Amino acid sequence: MAIWVDKEQCVACGACESACPFGAIVMEADKAVITEACTACGACVSTCPVTAIIRDVEEAVTAIDKAAYKDVWVYIEHADGQARNVGFELLGEGRKLADSMGQKLAGIIVGDKVEQLVKAVFANGADKVYLVEGKEFAKYTTDAYTAVFTDLITDYKPSVILMGATINGRDLGPRVACRVGTGLTADCTDLGIDEQTGLVAWTRPAFGGNIMATILCPEHRPQMGTVRPNVFKRPQPDFGRTGEVIRVSSTVKPEAVRTKVIEAVQVCTGSCNLEESEIIVSGGRGMGKPENFVLIEELAAVLGGAVGASRAVIDAGWKPHPHQVGQTGKTVGPKVYIACGISGAIQHVAGMSSSDTIIAINKDADAPIFKVADYGIVGDVMEVLPALTEEFKKAKQ
Ligand code: FAD
Ligand code: SF4
Repeated sequence: MAIWVDKEQCVACGACESACPFGAIVMEADKAVITEACTACGACVSTCPVTAIIRDVEEAVTAIDKAAYKDVWVYIEHADGQARNVGFELLGEGRKLADSMGQKLAGIIVGDKVEQLVKAVFANGADKVYLVEGKEFAKYTTDAYTAVFTDLITDYKPSVILMGATINGRDLGPRVACRVGTGLTADCTDLGIDEQTGLVAWTRPAFGGNIMATILCPEHRPQMGTVRPNVFKRPQPDFGRTGEVIRVSSTVKPEAVRTKVIEAVQVCTGSCNLEESEIIVSGGRGMGKPENFVLIEELAAVLGGAVGASRAVIDAGWKPHPHQVGQTGKTVGPKVYIACGISGAIQHVAGMSSSDTIIAINKDADAPIFKVADYGIVGDVMEVLPALTEEFKKAKQ
C-alpha cells in the first residue's frame, strides 16, 4: 500500500506535514514530498483540502492471489526450552479451523536447539512443523523474529496465523502483519468460521468490553490474530501422532538485529505466574488495605498457588500490574480461582470466568461475583481467610 502526492494538485498548504505522526512529509520546492519515514498509515490523506494525497489501496488489494494462501499456522512460543501453554491451546483451536477450511495445521518453531518441542506440537494436533534454528534466535528479539516470520510467510503463504497475546506475541504479531501488508485482530477471545464468507471470524471485546466485535480480514492474506492465553483449553495430547518437519535455514543477518538481550531480570516470583498456575487466590478492594494481602499470600502459599488481584488493587498501588486479572490484565483459567473481596465487575470476570471452579468470599450476599461462582462464602475476608488457611495447613499435615 503506497501513499503519494499528486504534484499538480498540491497547493503547498502544509496541512499534511503537521498531520503525519511520523514526520514523513516535508515541503520541497513548494510541494509536499513523502519521505522514506512513511509507514503508509494514511493519517495525512483526509487532511489534504485538495485531495492531493493518494493512497493506492486498490492496487494492493487486487495484487493478492488469495487462492495461493493455504494452511493454518500457530506460533509455538517458548522460554528456557519449554513451550508455553498458549501455543498448545491455539493448536487445539487451529485444528478446528483447519478442519473446517479443509486445510493443514502447522506449528512454527523458531529458536536455538528447540527440536525437542516438535513431538509435543504434533501430539497437540499439528500436521506439519516449520523449524528454524540458529543462535540468533536464542532469545526473542523483535528484529530477528520479525525477519524470519516475514520470510516464512513470503515463501510458504499461510492462510491464517494464530499467535498468543503474550508480551512477545503482542510485539511480533503487529510487526509481521505490517511487513506483509495484512491486518491483525489483537487480543481475541473467540475464533470461528464466518458461514457466509468462509473467513476466520475473530472475536474480541471492544468499547471497554461493552460489546464483542467480530472482525473479518477479507482482502489481505494471511488472516492474522493474537489470542489471549487461557481462553481455550489445551487439547488432550496424542503422542502417537506424527507429521512432516520442514527445516528452514535462517536468512537473518546478525547486523540486522539491532537489539541484544544482555540479561533477563525476574521482576516477579512464582506468585505472579498466573497464566500457568492451577490455583489462584485473588484479592480485591474488600481486603481493606495492602497489609491485609498477607492473608491472600498465606492461603496461596499453602495451596501452592499464585496471587491475583483486581484492578482496584493495582490502581491503589497495593500490588504490581503482573498480578492483575481481567480485561486489561491477565486472562486466567486455573483449576481453582478464589476471589476474596472482589465485587465481580464485568471487566474482572472477563479474565477469570473460564476457571474450572470459582470460589467467592464476599460480605455482600448480592455481590455479582456470586453469579459466576460455583461456591460462595458470605462473610468477612478477615475472618474467612485465616480459617481457610488454618484448615488447609491441617489437611496437609
Ligand atoms: P470493588 O468493586 O470496590 O469491590 C469490593 C468488594 O469487596 C465488594 O463487593 C464488597 O462487598 C467486598 N468487601 C468489602 N469488604 C469486605 C470484607 N471485609 N470481606 C469480604 N468482602 C468485602 N477490573 C479488574 O479487576 N480487572 C481488569 O482487567 C479491569 N479492566 C478494566 C477495564 C476498563 C476499561 C474499565 C472501565 C474497568 C476495568 N476494571 C477492571 C475495573 C472494574 O470495573 C472494577 O472497578 C474493579 O474490578 C473493582 O475491583 P474490586 O472488585 O476489587 O473492588
Ligand atoms: Fe499539498 Fe495536500 Fe499536503 Fe496541502 S495537504 S501540502 S495540498 S499534499
